[in-house]
Amino acid sequence: MSDYLLEARNIKIHFPVYGGIFRRKVGKVYAVDGVSLKVKKSETIGLVGESGCGKTTIGRALLKLYNLTEGNVLFEGEDISRLSDKKMRPLRRNMQMIFQDPFESLDARQTIGDILEEPLIIHKFGSLQSRRKEVLNLLSRVGIPQSAVNRFPHEFSGGQRQRIGIARSIALKPKLIVCDEPVSALDVSIQSQILNLLLDLQSEMNLTYIFIAHDLAVVKHISDNIAVMYLGKIVEYADADATYENPLHPYTKALISAIPVPDPFVKNKRTILYGDVPSPLNPPSGCRFHTRCPVAFDRCRIDEPELKQVAAGSEVKEHLAACHLVNS
Ligand code: SF4
Repeated sequence: MSDYLLEARNIKIHFPVYGGIFRRKVGKVYAVDGVSLKVKKSETIGLVGESGCGKTTIGRALLKLYNLTEGNVLFEGEDISRLSDKKMRPLRRNMQMIFQDPFESLDARQTIGDILEEPLIIHKFGSLQSRRKEVLNLLSRVGIPQSAVNRFPHEFSGGQRQRIGIARSIALKPKLIVCDEPVSALDVSIQSQILNLLLDLQSEMNLTYIFIAHDLAVVKHISDNIAVMYLGKIVEYADADATYENPLHPYTKALISAIPVPDPFVKNKRTILYGDVPSPLNPPSGCRFHTRCPVAFDRCRIDEPELKQVAAGSEVKEHLAACHLVNS
């Protein structure tokens, strides 16, 4: 059996764009353009980058919620990239998702009990009595009083709703959870409580997380390894300590420089990235980051840098970067 719970091999997800009176295909959005990842059991990979970098698309593709244009996804060594919905169904219980917006991800017309019981019914979990007992267990596990079972989502705060979303994601005792910006919509004071809950559940249940965020500060404490993404590609990959202490790619450096320092006497030299992420419909030539990179030079506009092990890094630890300056 593979050492890895999940492997993505050079995955590409291109969405067709249609236009004109005859709705002909006029282009494509290069949402993800050649990403490889390996995730070991019980570890957390942080996927970080600004909005529009393709993080959420990858997360969904890994759960086979999107079809791949190219490449393969292996779950426990089995290639699931082209499995039919019917063949995917039994695997789905092992692969769950926590959504960014706890307001939208819970059906406002269902009680909390019904929301948590639904996946158990779909996957034919036990009798009515055992399902109800399990729903109460789930609520306790995520720190929501059992009396909430007959209440509706609108009666809870954002943080409580996210706890209920987490309870639903662990209902089937999955192996992998894709956490899609699970704390971005929450107050800073609540964010750490939710992150701690995710960490507790991970150690109790041996969960593996793909943790998506646009903010490097958020993934710092939860991730073993971090993949920094820019415009559909990974530009740097390393363990969490190396990413923070020795960032090599100019984009990672800029993201780290934007993390606020809690000490008012320490001045952080911030690298400002001007402009927005270019359109994935027409990505820049050469290095995709060259239009915003503060240290770009001529070669960057023509030659696309390869994501490879950095020469200065340790041979034992994986530290990959896609930049001509790092790998020259
Ligand atoms: Fe900047 Fe060039 Fe490195 Fe790209 S390859 S990150 S443009 S220096």
